[in-house]
Order: sequence, then C-alpha cells, then structure tokens
Amino acid sequence: MSEPDTTHVVIVGGGFAGVACAKRLAGDPSVRVTLVDRNEYHQFQPLLYQVATAELTPTDIRFDLAHMFHRHDNIEVRTAEATSADPQTRTVTLASGATIEADALVLAAGAQPNFFHTPGADQFAFPLYSVENAERVRSQVLQLFQDAAAKPELVEEGALTFVVVGGGPTGVETAGALAELVHDVMPHLYEHLAVSGAKVILVDLGHVLLAGFSDTAHAYATQQLQRRGVQLRLGVSATEVGADHVVLSDGTTIRTHLVVWGGGEMAAPLAARSGLAQGRGGRINVQPDLTVDGHQGVYALGDFANIPYGDEPALPQLGSVAAQAGDWAAGNIIADRLGAGRQPFHYRDKGIMAMIGRKAAVAEIGEHRHEMHGRFAFAAWLGVHAELLANTGAELKAFTAWAEEFYFRPHHRSANLLDPATVDTPRIAWGSG
Ligand SMILES: Cc1cc2nc3c(=O)[nH]c(=O)nc-3n(C[C@H](O)[C@H](O)[C@H](O)COP(=O)(O)OP(=O)(O)OC[C@H]3O[C@@H](n4cnc5c(N)ncnc54)[C@H](O)[C@@H]3O)c2cc1C
Repeated sequence: MSEPDTTHVVIVGGGFAGVACAKRLAGDPSVRVTLVDRNEYHQFQPLLYQVATAELTPTDIRFDLAHMFHRHDNIEVRTAEATSADPQTRTVTLASGATIEADALVLAAGAQPNFFHTPGADQFAFPLYSVENAERVRSQVLQLFQDAAAKPELVEEGALTFVVVGGGPTGVETAGALAELVHDVMPHLYEHLAVSGAKVILVDLGHVLLAGFSDTAHAYATQQLQRRGVQLRLGVSATEVGADHVVLSDGTTIRTHLVVWGGGEMAAPLAARSGLAQGRGGRINVQPDLTVDGHQGVYALGDFANIPYGDEPALPQLGSVAAQAGDWAAGNIIADRLGAGRQPFHYRDKGIMAMIGRKAAVAEIGEHRHEMHGRFAFAAWLGVHAELLANTGAELKAFTAWAEEFYFRPHHRSANLLDPATVDTPRIAWGSG
C-alpha cells in the first residue's frame, strides 16, 4: 500500500497509453507508480509490419521499460502477466498469485486479434500484434523462399502464395510491404528461383480498401496495391484457415502457408477478467473523463477502452488516441488527488494515415481530414510516427535510418534480415497437410 500521503497508481500495460500515463506521473513525489507489463519492453506496433517484412530488426521497435523510467524513483516497472483485476478493491492479481492494490487503477492492456470464430484462424493464421508475431511472419516468409528455392515444385503447393486478410490500414500496409519484399527484394536473393510464381493476395469482405478513409483514398490504395502486383479479392471473407490453405466465402480454396490476419481486433483477454462490463469489441466503456462508471479511481485507456467523443460512440484504436488518453488520465489522477475535479478528455486529432509502399501513402490530416497522397502523405506519416516514438522516449536513429533506406534504397535489406539461418520456427511439413 501507499505511504500515507502518496497515491499509488497501478498501470497494467506498457503500450502507448500506459507509458504516456507513467511519463506524466514520473517525478511527482505525491504519486507512486507500479507499471506492469508481461514484457520487459514497450513495443512500437505501427512498425510491426516492417519487422514482419524484414525492413527492421525486432530490437529497432522494442524499448526497454525499466530503462525508460530509470531516472524516476517513483516508477517501479514490474515484468509480470496480470491475470485478473478487481475494480471494487482496485487490485490486480499477477500470474505468480501476488496481488497489487492501487488507489488509482489504470487498465491499458491493449488488444488481441479478433478471428470472428473463423475455423482454424486462431491456430493457423499469423496475427500481427506483437514483436513475436512479426518475427514469426518474417521467419515463415524466409523459410518458404528457402524451401521453394530447394524444391521449386513447392510453388505449386502455394509455397510462394501469401494471403493477407483485412483491407484496413494493417492489411493494406502489410500487403504492400509483402509485395515489395516478394517481388522486388527476394528475386535478388534467389535469382535461380522462378519467383514469378510468387503472389500476394488481399482478402476483405468489404468492397473497398481503407473503408474508414475517403473514396479517393479507396481508389488510390487499390491502384497502388495493384501496381505492386497485389491481387485483390474484395467482397469475400475467409471462412476457414488451415496449415496449407485458406477457404473463401465464394467457395474458392487458396493453397498457402502464410495467412496474415489483419482482419480485426478486440480488447486484450484481461478485459474479460476485470469484472467490468464489456462494450463493443470487448472493450471497456469509459466516461468522457476516462474513468469507468461506478468504479471510483478505475480508468481504462487506449485499445482496451471505448472512449466516447463528441457525437462518436468511441474514438478509433490509434497510437495517438492511446498516448493522449494516457497523459490525460494521469492529469485526472492528479486532479482527483488535489480535489480539483477530473476533466473530460480532449483529443487532438492528427488524422488517419496508411503507408502502402515506397512513395505511396495516404493521409487525411487533422480533424478536417485534409487529404494527401504520395510523398507528402509519406512525410506526414513519418512526422506523426516520429512524434509517437519520441513520446515513448525512444531514440529516433533506427527510425530515421529506416525511412531514408526505405525511400531511397527500397530494395536493399541487410543480409542479416534476410538470412534464413536466423529463422527459428518449426519447419514446414510439406505434403502432410
Ligand atoms: C500492425 C499494427 C499497425 C498499427 N499501425 C498504426 C499506425 O500506423 N498508427 C497508429 O496511430 N496506430 C497504429 N496501430 C494502432 C496502435 O498501435 C494501437 O492503437 C496502440 O498500440 C494502442 O495502445 P495501447 O497502449 O492501448 O495498447 P498496446 O500498445 O497494445 O499496449 C498494451 C500493452 O499491454 C501489455 N499487456 C497486455 N495484456 C497484459 C497482461 N495481462 N498483463 C501484463 N501486460 C499486458 C502488452 O504487453 C502491451 O505492452 C497499429 C496497430 C497494429 C497492430
């Protein structure tokens, strides 16, 4: 428990929301913070697909949490899995059985993939929510190329057919990056392999890409992906995923050994073990001041929460929403302590954006959604993500080096990133599927 005069804040989740909350409270002698994350590091999700497609290394997007707060005595970082939370007593239980009691409890455990009960998807699809997920995708791609190089007949078995489910920003960005890897980079490595058989297919039940964007953005994303050789299967859903295939709702079966799942997300499992009512997407509904109705001192943030805003029932699941909400929640915790009254969250809307490939991005900037395409959108994407990175206290060196390489030398990858010897996944059992 806290010293008589300090407020003990327990934050579950060291993502954008949790880190921003802890940073705002760092150095405040009236507050003691315990930041709990299952990982020792913060992971920068917007750059996951760059790791998945061998543009960045995992260490480029992983930032040590203890190091982030090492100068602040009032922040304790604990690496532990939170297995449940009790909002009545504001207590978090850890996998070890230990409990931590808080004066203010901040739930910021993020999201998990939503497979929408698609048979086989949880077992065989490759989600993209963590550094491990991204490394697994990269390993699978490298292994598939290695196997196909050794036995070109495997191309007929779908060895070089890569399927992305989901036409939102994650799916579009992943498909674009995979297409550039598969069509522009790998042929240099496997000159003798008939990589012309390589395919990237994007599947979405909707009839447009980037549904949350404008009509011109839909058309732009379609044109840019097609220009990169991505085959679009719109208006159909994935109805079954297996180790060596995916079945679509129009009855077709695609032979493939890599189905990347960008098809939807829901709140992390802790939401169901928090004793709190779950709203849309399994997320916790909060009030405009980010607290949970009826639970004094309990906050839910970021991808874990439905944050109402103006006429909108909830803000989107974005890094900037999570980071700003984390900072705001900390402000409200301090205000509560001072008896000053909590304030409704004010979101500074940066807009929405997606990077489709080199020199191809789309951005709708600010709350008025000023639309940009191409290199200006790429610059906007860089600016917003550099700010998010800087907010976590991360060094921007790897990011700026990546941006420069990506823009000017897009087909270059360091040998290490493409080395199949670094692959550490189970070998693919060909012919047994
Ligand atoms: C592939 C991908 C690309 C994206 N691209 C963009 C983009 O370009 N721009 C943008 O603005 N947003 C993007 N997003 C969305 C953005 O990353 C999220 O909105 C943001 O990460 C949410 O922040 P958060 O703090 O709520 O959760 P997260 O960042 O997910 O952090 C949650 C933390 O909680 C920890 N945790 C979860 N459960 C437990 C538990 N039981 N015990 C202990 N720790 C736990 C996790 O380890 C994690 O560190 C992208 C997301 C993905 C998946």
